[in-house]
Amino acid sequence: MILSRVDEARDALRSVIEQSRRIVAFTGAGISTECGVPDFRSENSPWVRYKPIEFDLFLSDILMREEAWRRKFALDDIYAGVQPGRGHYALANLASSGKIEAIITQNIDNLHQLSGLSEDRIIELHGNGTYATCLSCGVRYELAAIRREFEATGAAPVCEVCDGPVKAATISFGQAMSAHAMERARLATMQCDLFLAIGSSLVVYPAASFPMLASQNNKRLVIINGEATPLDSEADIVLRGDIGDILEPFAT
Ligand code: NAD
Repeated sequence: MILSRVDEARDALRSVIEQSRRIVAFTGAGISTECGVPDFRSENSPWVRYKPIEFDLFLSDILMREEAWRRKFALDDIYAGVQPGRGHYALANLASSGKIEAIITQNIDNLHQLSGLSEDRIIELHGNGTYATCLSCGVRYELAAIRREFEATGAAPVCEVCDGPVKAATISFGQAMSAHAMERARLATMQCDLFLAIGSSLVVYPAASFPMLASQNNKRLVIINGEATPLDSEADIVLRGDIGDILEPFAT
């Protein structure tokens, strides 16, 4: 069933949420577009202009590593100060009322945390772009200090503890996903009775395997997105429309 009228979509969502006890939400870039963070595929996307450097190049080429940091800071300037939107607040409210067990996100923008959701409910498949870590020993670094040093010297940061390369805490193309995050996401999916896929084109794998896993294990699958996705035919209900509009009744 595909519903594209916002009132019908809201009613259907309210009804499936009422009927469910353990909900998992899976979010993609579409939940953050109303906050001013463009999705990957929109026209003139800054993600294309400041294309992420692939992981093996980051590791092997010091010039590419410096370029990766230049692009990272250019993107940070574009998104500086963004705040959560209606979708983030709706999910935070559903979590605090005990309906939502976990949020699996493809996003790296930290907006679920800023909406008040507790950290232990958030599973970040692609990491978090608001801090950095040493690739060798895992020590965390804050971006402000790295940026000051980078702008003063032009040199890519290295770890003060072990001299390893320091990288934004996101998963780059070609970089292994966190096995821990993947296992948490798998468990959450297997334990839910409703899986809400929100604002993802569902073409980036392995992340998009979780809605498929939900469907294969007879979990109710509801997809909320502005355009068709390759998994629409697997969904029990597709709510086609603006995410903020559809989730707004749950946001306050
Ligand atoms: P995507 O850009 O591939 O897909 C986003 C989907 O959301 C699209 O289908 C689009 O039509 C839809 N959409 C956008 N705004 C919407 C709205 N207001 N209402 C309804 N639908 C809307 O994003 P993705 O599938 O999440 O994958 C892209 C990858 O790039 C992710 O894995 C992520 O790591 C990264 N990324 C992250 C961010 C972020 O952190 N906010 C932003 C861009 C890209």
